[in-house]
Amino acid sequence: MAALQLFLLGAVCLLSSSLALPLLQEAGGMKEPQWEQAQDYLKRFYFHGLKSKEVDSLETRLKEMQKFFGLPITGRLNSHLIEIMHKPRCGVPDVTEYSPLPSSPKWTSRVVTYRIVSYPFPTQNLSPVRVDQIVAKAFNLWSKEIPLHFKRLRLGIADIMIGFARGAHGDASPFDGPGNTLAHAFPPGPGLGGDAHFDKDEHWTDGSSLGINFLYVATHELGHSLGLDHSSDPNAVMYPTYEHVDSQNFKLGQDDIEGIQKLYGERSDSRKR
Ligand SMILES: [Zn+2]
Ligand SMILES: [Zn+2]
Repeated sequence: MAALQLFLLGAVCLLSSSLALPLLQEAGGMKEPQWEQAQDYLKRFYFHGLKSKEVDSLETRLKEMQKFFGLPITGRLNSHLIEIMHKPRCGVPDVTEYSPLPSSPKWTSRVVTYRIVSYPFPTQNLSPVRVDQIVAKAFNLWSKEIPLHFKRLRLGIADIMIGFARGAHGDASPFDGPGNTLAHAFPPGPGLGGDAHFDKDEHWTDGSSLGINFLYVATHELGHSLGLDHSSDPNAVMYPTYEHVDSQNFKLGQDDIEGIQKLYGERSDSRKR
């Protein structure tokens, strides 16, 4: 009896998911909510990135995701992909919409200004003073490698406006509460360009306690603010998913350094070892 019920349940699951999404599923019981989550993830982070009228199907997006993470390109959802989809991550897409114009926006001035406009809640582990220090440290990690100088403003409009926000906060990418999307930032440009937003609902820390390491995420987001996209290199700070890191030994990866120097050139003074 129990075996029969299980069999019927399995048959119903298989039927409903195959109706919703033929082709994509590897053998095994994938449940409907997982499909919906996966579709949502693929729509947010993987545009088709194709030049012509090739069908913008979920299968194409799955292939883009598999390509990005260096996995076998099957166009089928499996547990490994679902595991990646559940990791906390940056809100910036990994593969963006195909654009006919090759563009790598960057700052053209050697002095780039920033301003920290808001902070996480004071009850959290990260005081405003620590936030200021960590943001300065994150900027320093980048400026050690390139001939840019970052200058902090206390008032007015800076090139890079940095803040903590919850839920919908005035751009097209609302935050989603604790976990999942941690932050996002915009490529260099006027207005929102260069700005970096952090989800106020995360448990931000300076790395000394459990939670999301703000130094890591700030360095990553400022990489976007300077014009970098996501990297497929798991050792790069610009890798899209979050892993816990030790703040003491935290540094840019070789891929990050090469990427940023491609945009701005190398720093020539004594600060560069
Ligand atoms: Zn990112
Ligand atoms: Zn935002």
